[in-house]
Amino acid sequence: MPVRLALHGGAPVRSSFLPYSRQNIDDKDIQAVVEVLRSDYLTTGPVIQRFENRVAQYVGSQYAAAIANGTAALHAACFAARVGPGDEVITTPMTFAASANCALYMGARPVFADIDPDTYNIDPHQVERLISERTRAVVAVDFTGQPADLEPLIDLTREQGLTLIEDAAHSLGSQYKGRPVGAIADLTTFSFHPVKHITTGEGGMITTNNRELYKRLVMFRTHGITRDSDKLLTPDQGDWYNEQLVLGYNYRITDIQCALGCSQMDRLPEFIAQRRAIVNRYNSLLADFKGVTRPFQAAGTESTWHLYIIKLELERFKAGRKEIFAALRAENIGVNVHYIPVYYHPYYQSLGYKRGLCPKAEDLYERIITLPLFPGMQDSDVEDVVKALDKVLHYYYK
Ligand SMILES: *Cc1c(COP(=O)(O)O)cnc(C)c1O
Repeated sequence: MPVRLALHGGAPVRSSFLPYSRQNIDDKDIQAVVEVLRSDYLTTGPVIQRFENRVAQYVGSQYAAAIANGTAALHAACFAARVGPGDEVITTPMTFAASANCALYMGARPVFADIDPDTYNIDPHQVERLISERTRAVVAVDFTGQPADLEPLIDLTREQGLTLIEDAAHSLGSQYKGRPVGAIADLTTFSFHPVKHITTGEGGMITTNNRELYKRLVMFRTHGITRDSDKLLTPDQGDWYNEQLVLGYNYRITDIQCALGCSQMDRLPEFIAQRRAIVNRYNSLLADFKGVTRPFQAAGTESTWHLYIIKLELERFKAGRKEIFAALRAENIGVNVHYIPVYYHPYYQSLGYKRGLCPKAEDLYERIITLPLFPGMQDSDVEDVVKALDKVLHYYYK
């Protein structure tokens, strides 16, 4: 009897839905948060700095500034880099909108550089081609956890006097040529949203080795107000005295969140080990699947794997990605698509961006499906995903 897809009324491979990602919280995490709730400070207390120190030490950076979320981290990084009206910021279309929105927040224009078709990361040659007199910064994203090709990007940005911002929302713990991301670019931003490597509920961090950039980050996250005697225009007024020097925001993170962050940092090595084991398992189970390209790992990079993305050779199938995706969802597999090219969004279209800008990213977008990947996912879950893929793809092979 031929198999009947769940999409067509057959029995699904799984009886319960498997999400593409989720947080992993244990009793110690809960205990850490409860302790702060019973302490003197809920928001700006001692735990923020403890969390900042943990992350700085882990990535090997001199400075770390914790902030409300990963989007605020990118906004603050653009502020620190003095991105302003009339400037251009070069980034990739194959990312979450926040990587480009941060330029718009500062009145600058995002310029999209096409991707490398193997790594799916921003292509340094395309960046070079797009640098103009208006370019102020480059936002390189470590897509899926694989570090962007930082060496040529550093050379280019140094040469041209630009700031390199690395959006490492996917890559806490990843390495580029033997060094952890976080101390390589001028500024590196992280997100602690529940689907990322560690979570604080909402939360973010910017790391840097540059003291001046760090001071600008800290000012920006509290309204642009400072008490720093190096910065005050009229010092020696008294202990109450502070000055608002620029227009900042309330982008503070709380001690409650940072307590969770510290506790999650204890667990990060285990989370990474689990992500890598799941990826290895997918890689071996999918090795013989026709029409499926597994993720590529560039030489010299070690990814901590935020996402596991397969690329479909659509020419081999009777159905398109839309139908294959729907069939997998019907089997109760929480597949996803990362990402819709940023400039496809109606808001970006309204700003005048046209389709066709980055053909490689656009072609990739048509073919990708993200498979579930998170610490705590069981071997049987991985097998269910592979079983569902096998069932659905066999149904649709030409
Ligand atoms: C998650 C994410 C962000 C934004 O982080 P938030 O903490 O959700 O604001 C930015 N860039 C990329 C690539 C992301 O995946």
